[in-house]
Amino acid sequence: MTDCLFCRIIAGEIPAKKVFEDQHTFAFEDINPQAPTHVLVVPKKHIRGLKEAAAEDAEIIGRCHLIAAQLAQQRGIEDSYRTVLNVGPGAGQSVFHMHVHLLGGRSLGWPPG
Ligand code: AMP
Ligand code: ZN
Repeated sequence: MTDCLFCRIIAGEIPAKKVFEDQHTFAFEDINPQAPTHVLVVPKKHIRGLKEAAAEDAEIIGRCHLIAAQLAQQRGIEDSYRTVLNVGPGAGQSVFHMHVHLLGGRSLGWPPG
């Protein structure tokens, strides 16, 4: 039994609205959406955050972004979306299992807060 929220979602121990799954990745709707599309794409492997990622994680980090791009295409927002990877509490990271946010479906300001 892990105490990692996203590991437990991946294992099906905590319910989530799954939108995609393959051998290495899992994607689900954010519980507190900040845009009409707000999906989290996570590696099944527990990586605490980008700061803790190793060279061997390069492929899975890339895959998570490519899945975000694929989901954006499916939802018809491929020309206007943002992928976000918060690193550390000061930047908004609250769950310490690395995840890529896919945000879209509204206009997105820059710079982000
Ligand atoms: P971050 O703040 O970058 O670590 O992102 C964590 C995200 O996880 C936030 O956007 C939360 O709304 C989301 N979140 C927290 N708990 C859940 C949950 N049980 N199911 C889906 N999303 C969640
Ligand atoms: Zn985890």
